Parts: sequence; structure tokens; C-alpha cells
Amino acid sequence: MRGSNRISSWPGAAALLGAALGVWICTTNAASSEVYIVRKNDSLSQIAQTHGVRVQELARVNGLSLESTIYPGQRLQIPLPARDQERHDARTVTVRKNDSLTLIARRHRVSVAALARANGLSLDDLIRPGDKLRLPTAAPARPALEMRVQKAIDIAPVRRGMWKQIVIHHTATTMATIRGMDEYHRMECRMENGLAYHFVIGNGQGIPDGRIEVGNRWTRQLEGGHLSTRSQNLVSLGVCLVGHFDRHRPTPKQLESLDALLRALMKRCGLGPSAITTHQLVSKQRTRCPGKFFDLKLVLAELRKD
Ligand SMILES: [Zn+2]
Repeated sequence: MRGSNRISSWPGAAALLGAALGVWICTTNAASSEVYIVRKNDSLSQIAQTHGVRVQELARVNGLSLESTIYPGQRLQIPLPARDQERHDARTVTVRKNDSLTLIARRHRVSVAALARANGLSLDDLIRPGDKLRLPTAAPARPALEMRVQKAIDIAPVRRGMWKQIVIHHTATTMATIRGMDEYHRMECRMENGLAYHFVIGNGQGIPDGRIEVGNRWTRQLEGGHLSTRSQNLVSLGVCLVGHFDRHRPTPKQLESLDALLRALMKRCGLGPSAITTHQLVSKQRTRCPGKFFDLKLVLAELRKD
């Protein structure tokens, strides 16, 4: 949808608060960005213009796409204009003629997946001479899975060989809460075990960005409710990312959490990267889930590293 980064009438408390109090601009301790709180009728492009930054850059640092909906009360990081930033950030490279992501990655000894991710690109995205790319930090510390989640994975009574694949979904909504999803699956879909997925990863709208919610179906090792046939549900773990990935990309934090979660699940269930798939790839019914902006190739490239 074009132009949907205009404010929607989001009926939450944040909207009322934002509208009532107007703008705040707070400067964070680190001088590299400031925080702007979205007002009624703001759009990403207009906020970018006001602050003298590129709208693509504004979207990228906030894990948004140009089509993302923003809402009053939402906090956005405003990056410093590029000329100020380059002084701080020596790890920026300019794309040369005939460059590709692979060539640049090789030249700077970083993985192509990490390079793509650091710039919010997918492996197939075109880059042009003169484009500035950010290099991922040399030795990226792989973010550890939160202790709470690791524990839940460890203590669940997993039977070896029970799970054959891990299927990735999106909610196809901008926001979601666990309670809302659980009620929907219980009431509308008449599933007595509620929430159809084993895990849900938030995007900052309803569930904090990158937060992994552990479902009852994982804790109790119950079959999923996320695929169309029982035989598939019996052997398939379901991981759902909040968002509508036909309209925007998953946030960087969601992808980081997904990577950490998949690694832990593969280890716990004795599975390899070939067991990771998407709803669209396994479904006998036609579905677009998890959307054209969900890049399975990038997820797998990341998983195959070390
Ligand atoms: Zn799905």
C-alpha cells in the first residue's frame, strides 16, 4: 500500500497520550541519535525531512520499511545526518562500479548475509555505484537467547525424532498480542489448545521488538495448529513473527531472535538447517505466508555460519 506510512487512527493509549502532549524531543546520552515521539498526522518522510535525514535511513534505524504504519506516541530514533555520522563511523563503504554484495563482503572479510542484514537489504537487492553501505562489526557477538527462553527449551519434555521441521509464519497483521492470538485461535478457530504456534516473535507493536514468547504448545510438547493437516501439525514446530511481510520486512531484532531461537531448537530437536521452512513452502493450500519480504535464504545463510 502506497502512502500508508501516514498515521492510521490507532486507538491505543499511546495515541491519546501522543495527541494530548504533542512533541517531545529527547536527546539520548550517545550523541549518534536522538529520540522523536510521533505526533498525530506525522509521516516518516515528513519526519525525515524535518530532521534532515534520508527517509530510507530513518526507516532502517527503526527497523521499519517505507510502507510501515507509524502511530502517535511511537518513539523513533533520529540518526545524525550522514555527514556527521561518517566522522563517527569509519566502517562505511561506497559501492563501486560493477560491485555486488558478494564482492564487497569478500573484500571486507564479512559474510554476505551479515552485510545484507546490516543494511536492511535482501541478497537479491540491487546496489548502485555511489551507494553507501555499512559494514557489520568485525566479530559480531551472536546475541544469546534470553535465559527464560533457553530454559523453556531445555526443560520441555522433547522426544527425540518427534519434530521433523520448523515452519515459519507471519501474523499478516501490523500488531498482535499473545492474548489476542490465543483467544482468536480458541474462539474463532475452535482450537482447544489455543495459540496455534509454539513460539511468537514480537515486532514492537503489541509484543516488544524481538521478544520471543514461548507458547503452551511448546511447554507441553503439543502438536501445532498452524498447518492445514493433522499429519503435518504432528511433526511441525510453528514459529510466528508478528508483522505483515507482504508490506514490510521483519525488524532486525526479529531476525536476530529468530536466528537464536532456530539454533536452540535445532540443537534441542536434533534438526539441521534443511528442516527450516515456511508455511508457503509446505502448505498444500495456497498461502503467501510469511510474505514476499520474508527472506528464507538470508535466514538459512545466517544459520549455516559457524
Ligand atoms: Zn502461516
